[in-house]
Amino acid sequence: MSKLYFSYAAMNAGKSTVLLQASYNYIERGMRTLLFTSSLYAETDTGKITSRIGIDAKAELYGREDDLNAWIVREHKRKKISCVFVDEAQFLTKEQVWQLARIADRLDIPVLCYGLRTDFQGKLFEGSAELLAIADNLREIRTICHCGRKATMVVRRTADGRALTTGAQVGIEKGMYLSLCRRHWVEEMGSERKPKAVKVVAKVAKKKRLAAKANLRLAAANASRPPRRTKR
Ligand SMILES: [Zn+2]
Repeated sequence: MSKLYFSYAAMNAGKSTVLLQASYNYIERGMRTLLFTSSLYAETDTGKITSRIGIDAKAELYGREDDLNAWIVREHKRKKISCVFVDEAQFLTKEQVWQLARIADRLDIPVLCYGLRTDFQGKLFEGSAELLAIADNLREIRTICHCGRKATMVVRRTADGRALTTGAQVGIEKGMYLSLCRRHWVEEMGSERKPKAVKVVAKVAKKKRLAAKANLRLAAANASRPPRRTKR
């Protein structure tokens, strides 16, 4: 049985570069790979996976309505496929993730998915959530924040450089995103998030105080209680 893989990262971690390199390793050995990318960011009808370091490859464009299982089965019948690659896998639907799992399980073809883990509001994408749940193999592709710590979060910025805190999960422009560590992401996302965090801390402190009081009362009660006698 082949495996379903999910390699996730923040923005600009080099996911497409890793994908293209992995695909090339198959091609070099005379094997055929099938590449998919989301139609969401596509400028033309023909798909292409491009990496920032200048390499690219043709890819099939998938939309939310496509049955990826049927698509891959059809292609595999036409000419044997050794490996399937999916870029922008965060945009897969739940159903499509299961369709890809079926390819690994029934057709015995490994499926390698690459995508963002969370959106700019720190929420899981539909495709990523399902992949994190059912993929056989999870791998993090690392990138770093400007402070040098690991970047796990993404902010979406306006043209004047402000971080957006609300809006649609899918942005129009890919280049408006920036990867940050969690601490700097919270700072960028602005003040409305901070009071909430402080409130939570205050609540926890209050709970702890109440728990301590309750413990004292219990201890006092136990101390004043006469020692239990065993019945004969
Ligand atoms: Zn940072």
